[in-house]
Amino acid sequence: MRMQDKVALVTGAAGGIGLAIARQYAQEGATVVVADLNAEACEASAEEIRAEGGHATGLAMDVTDEQAVDAGVAEIARRHGRLDVVLSNAGIQHIDPLDELALADWRKVMAVHLDGGFLLTRAALRQMYRQPEGGRIIYMGSVHSMEASPLKAPYVAAKHGLLGLCRAVAKEGAEHGVSANIICPGFVRTPLVDRQIPQQARELGISEEEVISKVMLKNTVDGEFTSLEEVSELATHLAAFPGNGLTGQAFVVSHGWHMH
Ligand code: NAD
Repeated sequence: MRMQDKVALVTGAAGGIGLAIARQYAQEGATVVVADLNAEACEASAEEIRAEGGHATGLAMDVTDEQAVDAGVAEIARRHGRLDVVLSNAGIQHIDPLDELALADWRKVMAVHLDGGFLLTRAALRQMYRQPEGGRIIYMGSVHSMEASPLKAPYVAAKHGLLGLCRAVAKEGAEHGVSANIICPGFVRTPLVDRQIPQQARELGISEEEVISKVMLKNTVDGEFTSLEEVSELATHLAAFPGNGLTGQAFVVSHGWHMH
């Protein structure tokens, strides 16, 4: 029970990595707010967590919507009196070569990752600065916060940007007891990855199996996908770690794809 009595907000938590982390946070004793675009999907995921004995509520929140983020965080503070952990996880991918990339698609990816990350951070800090215990802000980066891949320019740029935001929060937040860290996973089998396998196969003119073995897992030490459990364990460790000892850091969980 590493997160007993903590209140945690996880965005993009209706499915994929966000839901896996929300689930583990609840198993560790936290009260979890499951935020995502669709109210029913949030409630269904929260219900899943409650059925496992955890405390969870759903919250419809588009992270690119300033009003929705401010109102959502204010509602959590009103209901629970505190906000200890924020995991900025909502994300989208877009596959296109740079010379064909539409400005609208570039902006969409930037908006979800960077505008979303900023809006969530600002709202969380305003609450955490009022709490003597401060808080933990954790970003879902990627190996693409450090490495580039072809066809993913907006995603790579946005994930590098989140690393910068994380470091800035670490500097400003320290005196208020707020730490910030970023998790950088390799490929995890979620809907986000499943969608891009056929897209990449088409763009690169190779089979879907080759996208997995020759593109996604080529540089791992064991040819394995990173698992939801591995990412959730790291997210729990960072949420529970006391003090400012770990802040402004990037943690790569990628089966050795990226070593730094
Ligand atoms: P996913 O598509 O399964 O989940 C992403 C969630 O974000 C979805 O539920 C979606 O509805 C939500 N979302 C999208 N736009 C939103 C918005 N504007 N406001 C609120 N919610 C929004 O993908 P995933 O693989 O679980 O990805 C989660 C995070 O992990 C993303 O930030 C992604 O970039 C990152 N990541 C994923 C992998 C991977 O291999 N799957 C690797 C590294 C990093």
